[in-house]
Amino acid sequence: MLQPIVLVHGGAGDIPFERVDGKLVGVKAAAKIGYHKLQETGCVLDAVEEAVRNMELDPYFNASYGSVLTADATIELEASIMNGANLKVGCAALVKDIMHPISLARKVMNTPHNFLAGNGAMELAEQESFEILHSGQLVTHYAREALAEWKEGLNKGEERFARTEIGTENKYKKVETETVGAVAIDCKGNIAVATSTGGITGKLPGRIGDTPLIGSGTYADNLVGVSTTGHGETIMKYCLAHTILKRIDFLKENAQIATENACKTMTERLIGEGGAITIDYKGQVGISFTSKRMAWAYVKDSTIHYGIEKNQHLQEFL
Ligand code: ASP
Repeated sequence: MLQPIVLVHGGAGDIPFERVDGKLVGVKAAAKIGYHKLQETGCVLDAVEEAVRNMELDPYFNASYGSVLTADATIELEASIMNGANLKVGCAALVKDIMHPISLARKVMNTPHNFLAGNGAMELAEQESFEILHSGQLVTHYAREALAEWKEGLNKGEERFARTEIGTENKYKKVETETVGAVAIDCKGNIAVATSTGGITGKLPGRIGDTPLIGSGTYADNLVGVSTTGHGETIMKYCLAHTILKRIDFLKENAQIATENACKTMTERLIGEGGAITIDYKGQVGISFTSKRMAWAYVKDSTIHYGIEKNQHLQEFL
């Protein structure tokens, strides 16, 4: 019998110091809520969905409420969820004005398709009685400021930094990314993964990143589950989630080493930074990021583990 685990991340990036505490509170709460859900229903999909829903409500994260803005100052959301027991997936992109894109992605699992985007995704949301919010209700002051700062950088001819975003200097601190994700394993070794984001500040309308892409932002089978975060254009070229799985499967690396090596080699090869959280079939956890910070937390055996800085691993008994 394995120990059940719910592991979450709150996004990799150049997170400014003043956002650190809020993010740690958010990831710890999400891990606990996801774990309680797992105890309540025994279902890893329920656990990851619940953990992500919690972070979608939290303006400290770039997912649903608090999402970053496109160059047109709108919000376009994306999410994916995968069940490691049967490889069923649900993905949604170019979604607007709903509070829980991760739950819409889960509804996509019940259609004949894997991925719905734009109008089709919104039609499903309406059919499934999702509350459609007024345009602009998900926009925060922080996101507006981040877009203004991004535009200022662009006007100064610093597009390279502003569009690349990850790995930029502190002066672009408000364009850091803060996507959310969760991985869970139950005592029988069933694994599920969920990831949700608003993307990157100043993205062109219609841009889709790595988060809803299976193998890039999310992957789960009962061998390994991975949720990633960071510069989407980089992560999707490297298929980061599936690369971690391959390292565990073929190179026999453990979850931590595979996650570290995959993030490191991706950044060495493609420059863009990122991070990932992993649980493997032995119930081993992997957490790594090449960005300055990434908030993470997991609950296992009545203890919550968490951190946000490099090589930081704090724990508290629940
Ligand atoms: N990967 C996301 C994207 O590029 C952003 C993030 O992880 O924060 O859309």
